[in-house]
Amino acid sequence: MVDAVNDLVTPHRGVLPLLADPEGYRPCMWDLTAEHEIRRYWLDLFASHISTLGEAAVREEGEAAGPRAERVMEEFQAYLDRLKADPGCLGPLNILEICYERERVLRRHGFADPYRHAKHRENESALRFLPDVLAELDGLPEEPRRRAAIDGVFAGNIFDLGATQTQAMFKDRTVDFHDTREKLKPRPWLVDDLDRWFVRLDGPPHRAAALFVDNAGPDIVLGMIPFARELLKRGTRVILTANTNPSLNDVTIDELHELIDHAAGLDPLIRDARGDGSLQLIASGNGAPLIDLRRLSPELVAAVEREGVDLVVLEGMGRALESNYDAAFVCDALKLCMIKDLGIAGEMGGELFDLVLRFEPAPAG
Ligand code: MG
Repeated sequence: MVDAVNDLVTPHRGVLPLLADPEGYRPCMWDLTAEHEIRRYWLDLFASHISTLGEAAVREEGEAAGPRAERVMEEFQAYLDRLKADPGCLGPLNILEICYERERVLRRHGFADPYRHAKHRENESALRFLPDVLAELDGLPEEPRRRAAIDGVFAGNIFDLGATQTQAMFKDRTVDFHDTREKLKPRPWLVDDLDRWFVRLDGPPHRAAALFVDNAGPDIVLGMIPFARELLKRGTRVILTANTNPSLNDVTIDELHELIDHAAGLDPLIRDARGDGSLQLIASGNGAPLIDLRRLSPELVAAVEREGVDLVVLEGMGRALESNYDAAFVCDALKLCMIKDLGIAGEMGGELFDLVLRFEPAPAG
């Protein structure tokens, strides 16, 4: 049972063939065994978040699941206490390892997907807005359309039940995609390579892009699907890759298939791209909100090689910042997210809701 849980949570599989330095690659830039202040911040954050997750699990499965949720909280807290007392006791420590352990504890107590209903609800509600968002983009001239596609990704990314600052907004339903898009922070953003990205878009289209997507709901539906569609319009083939296994409110590959089927019924361009194979959906092999690009599914590695991917897009705080912010690639890379955590904002020298767009062109030669 424990081995099965382990395999589910920490797959040891393929390395992304586009990493510039696979040997030197570290998924997380913070080594929590070494960095004391950050460690304390993260251990406290995980401790406060687990009770929210426990509540979500009980909402999902009913009151009878209460005692199991209690055990999840106790067990995970004991794990955090152990790390507090002796950070190196379980080997190298980073945020991703703690995320894996949280999933293991949930699975051990029979919770497969505590946000299943919440994700479904947000997906359904976002799909209703998709035709308007696509029509709006299609109606814009080139330059403002490029900008609107990026703004949509940022606005969508606010839907995050894993971040303490935003989960309350969704509980109260006080957040709205269009409103968020209107109120995005003005440029220059905290990290702002937008001009360089636009210069790249003036050049020849990418052959193929691999988009590592983040959350269900407005994030994938109104942010990343329209962004992917803009790449398809340029003639770029697109791989959308989502988690194989559920974690928090990240969209899973099964949910992504449903969403794209639905979107294909609403939009001929998406339907045709599915039909001719220029839009592919591939399970990443991952089951955490962050991603280790050395632990990908064989299917994704094969697709990246087959398609000759020359653009990697990492979206959301977990994939673009908490992990992989410093990852270097042999091809163009775009890292995009909204900052929804005070600790990360502090580490990055910014504020809550700051925006990050990091574009790194392929190294010359
Ligand atoms: Mg997420």
